[in-house]
Amino acid sequence: MTLKFPNRPGSPNIHRAGKSRLLMSASPADIRLQNRTVIMRALYPDDSYSRSELAKLTGMSKVSTSDVVSELLKEGLLSEGAYRTPHGPGKPSQLIHFNAASGAIVSMDLSNVARLRGVVVDLAGKVMHRVEIELPHDEKLDASEVIKLCRSLLKMCDACVIGIAVATPGTVNAEGLILEAPKLGWVNMNLVKQLGVLADCPVVVTNDADAAVFAEGHFGAGFSDMILVQIAHGVGAGLLIDNDVVRGKGFMAGEIGHVVMSDGTCPCVCGKIGCLETMVSAPVLDEAITNNPDGRDQILAQAGHELGRALAMPVALTNITHVVIAGVPRLANQTMVDAAQSTIDVLTRSRFMQAVHVQVSTLGEDAAMRGAAGLVLRNVLAVL
Ligand SMILES: [Zn+2]
Repeated sequence: MTLKFPNRPGSPNIHRAGKSRLLMSASPADIRLQNRTVIMRALYPDDSYSRSELAKLTGMSKVSTSDVVSELLKEGLLSEGAYRTPHGPGKPSQLIHFNAASGAIVSMDLSNVARLRGVVVDLAGKVMHRVEIELPHDEKLDASEVIKLCRSLLKMCDACVIGIAVATPGTVNAEGLILEAPKLGWVNMNLVKQLGVLADCPVVVTNDADAAVFAEGHFGAGFSDMILVQIAHGVGAGLLIDNDVVRGKGFMAGEIGHVVMSDGTCPCVCGKIGCLETMVSAPVLDEAITNNPDGRDQILAQAGHELGRALAMPVALTNITHVVIAGVPRLANQTMVDAAQSTIDVLTRSRFMQAVHVQVSTLGEDAAMRGAAGLVLRNVLAVL
């Protein structure tokens, strides 16, 4: 079976209009791509329709629908299932499904420098295989460890690999070049090039918080607009507006970890004093809890309070009504959420403002990896 990659970078953009009719324009090749996307999006991830139902749903002609379905069946991206008996006269019609098992994506999370994690997901974003590598604590991550992890995951794939994805801390440009990742000791690290030689497929490298908020929007909580705060080795946020990640001109949107809090007193690795990261990052909280195990709830509540203070202004600025706290589950828990909720309420609520809802991530530590894989699905198949 051969999967085609119709939407690789440089190919025509596909309108993202849900399951409604799409505007068609440009060349026959563009129209063909749009038709493929329309059909796949109608079925993705687990709906099933007959050919005639698909034609009605998408607004395409029966002939075009049948042609595109045949092409996608041949490639393995769709499969045929049971027959549906009509209510009235007529022949039973066979139902068509999206075939999530027809491809695989390798996705890795570099947000914990001491524990590299990777998964293989199917085309519905479901985790099929998992690998973790414990590394000695070091100031720098050797890129060869990422390549080794990727090789292990590629060996586990029992379907055609349509993409390799990496969620990393730090600043990543539109081409996937890691401009700077102080936590990993990297400057201008080109993982796209290094991983690209391992398999004949696209490589997507993205910021971990951006990936996590994309995952929460498409595979988790399902909000189209939200702020997600990632509590990991550092602290970062992802911003989702209308289902798209906002990355900013300099690709640094959501880098809230090094904003100085008014009552912060601890020196930060960035040279300033009192950054948010000195109050709520995983290493800081773990150390505080180790030193005072009985004060665990109070420490996490205080961290939630600081997060609430940090988020009140962007919440009001963007009119975002959902905040998700993600990252290390032992820290990003309900105690932290309740404190953040309470503080945001106190600081923002008025009779003019909508209520803001704060919650724990529904995807746990897998959020960033699943989100990076989701970006491959968007780039290659345009189903998200
Ligand atoms: Zn700092």
